[in-house]
This record gives sequence, C-alpha cells and structure tokens, in this order.
Amino acid sequence: MHSKAARPALDLVVVGSVGLDTIATPAERRRDVLGGSASYACAAAARMARVGMVGVVGRDFPARAVARFRALGIDLQGVQRAEGRTFRWSGVYARDMNRRRTLETALNVFADFAPELPPAYRAAPFLFLANIAPALQLRVLDQVRAPRFVAADTMDLWIRTARPALRRVIGRIDLLLVNDAELRQLTHAPALIEGARRLLDWGPRGVVVKKGEHGCALVTRRTVVLLPAFPVAAVRDPTGAGDAFAGGFMGWLARAGGSAPDAVRRALLYGTVAASFAVESFGLDRLCEIRRRDLAARARRLLGMVRV
Ligand code: AMP
Repeated sequence: MHSKAARPALDLVVVGSVGLDTIATPAERRRDVLGGSASYACAAAARMARVGMVGVVGRDFPARAVARFRALGIDLQGVQRAEGRTFRWSGVYARDMNRRRTLETALNVFADFAPELPPAYRAAPFLFLANIAPALQLRVLDQVRAPRFVAADTMDLWIRTARPALRRVIGRIDLLLVNDAELRQLTHAPALIEGARRLLDWGPRGVVVKKGEHGCALVTRRTVVLLPAFPVAAVRDPTGAGDAFAGGFMGWLARAGGSAPDAVRRALLYGTVAASFAVESFGLDRLCEIRRRDLAARARRLLGMVRV
C-alpha cells in the first residue's frame, strides 16, 4: 500500500506543443495568441488535477504567458527554454468553422527538442501525449515508470510524414483521441466506428473520435458510447477544442484516479464540456476564467439534454 508521503507529486503529465498562434475566423483575426496542444490540454486539466507540462519555448516566449500557466497552477518544471524562436502555427477557418486550413507551421525550437522528464514527472500515474511529433511522444513514453493510463492525440501532418513512429505510439497507449478526418486518413475506413475498431487492432483499449460540433464517440471492443457536443451560444474560435477535450478528459480521470470502463465513459462528459468552454474565446481566455464548478454545472446540463 502507498503511504501518504509516497503519493506522486503530480497526477497528470502532458507533453505537447506550447506556442503562439495566428488565427483567422470569419469574424476576426488575432496574432500571437497563446496556444499549442499542451497549453490547451493543461489549462483544461488543471481545474481538476495537479498537472505537469513538458515542452519547450524560445527566448521570445512572453513572461505574461508563463504567468498565465502559473496562475492556473500548472507545474512548469518540464518546460525548457531554448535558444531560438517559440513554436508558431497559423490557420484560417471557413465560414463553417468545422473546416480549417493550416497556413503555416514553424516548429522552431521544437525541431531540436529532446524532452527530459524531471524525476517528479516520471512517477505520475496519468500521461497525455498531446499533438506533437510522434518521435517526441515516444521519447516521453520511454521515460515514464508504468503509468496507470496513457492517452495520445495526433494530427494530419504526422499521419502524413511520420506514420511508422505514430504507429509505434499507438501500439503503446491505452487510448487514442482523433478527429473524424484523422481517423479516415489513418485507417482509410469508410465509416467512423469501423475505422475506430481497426485502430483497436493496433493496440489501444479505446479510441475517442471527436466530431467537432457533432460530438464524440468512445469505441472499445465491448462498447460504443456516443455524446453530443455541448451547444454553446456562439463559437468564437474553435482552435484547441480537441486539446481542451483531451485535457478535460484526462484531468477528470486523473482526479477520479481511475481507468475502469465506467470512469473512462464519464471522462467523455468532462472532455466535452472543457472543449465547449475553449471555443467560447480566442486562446485560453475562457479556460482561464472558469472553475471546476463551472465544468461540473455544464456536465449536469449536458446530461439533462441527452436524457430521453
Ligand atoms: P486543435 O484545434 O485542437 O487541433 O489544436 C490547435 C493547436 O495545435 C494550436 O494551438 C496549435 O498551436 C497546435 N498545433 C498546430 N499544428 C501543430 C503541430 N504540427 N504540432 C503540434 N502542435 C500543433
């Protein structure tokens, strides 16, 4: 049995991108918005669990962004500062904000990044490999000591350019989170549930398929669980919705300390509501405003909406 003193210092470790995004929606364009997959995931998870971030920023990373992470209670020991420029991404949304085009991805300091987990991170029971080069995800997997539950995310760029490494990642995790387009690109399956089942053959126990405003599906060998998205009044910027989903999902699991099928099922609800807050503002603004009770209240409202 673990004594209280032996409890790991962190519940959840997240590795992923930390960067500055330039985002154009049909209504607005913003430059250098604090973003990145790890930023969104950590911000969403930090409301529920003690989270450590693994990533790299450049010399130009603003002090106010660091202050933002600290205010959320995110542990930053795992974030290196390197010579060079911070990761930058820019994208433009169509009038239908489920569709987006990447204009530019500048890996900058991520191009030469070799994650080194601080000792306190290696024993964390939950690990989320947010969207970043699969080689980096593998490097983190090699450094952790038997985590209880590992989930990963990815994107079209890595499916196209790093498929063998991505396949190794998928073979070593408990759960993969992908959006519908990525699932099609990965498996060439004509239908989503069929594609998710094909991915189960690669190793994970579960696959979560995110379908933007149309909700999500959790597919395991035994079950399919479907949940609609929370209907927000106005979507301002969908960037980071998938990462916030994953952060809410993993944050809730880490808080509950569980990885049993019922806990994983429940975590879908918290992923869904975290994503709904993320899209209500540019960047992390809305995720920084909310409290755990806001997530819980929205989760209850969503449950009320799906009761038939
Ligand atoms: P999402 O909208 O959930 O797909 O996530 C958008 C976030 O992913 C943005 O904040 C970007 O900074 C980040 N991002 C975009 N491209 C990449 C990439 N190639 N590797 C890592 N992160 C990325």
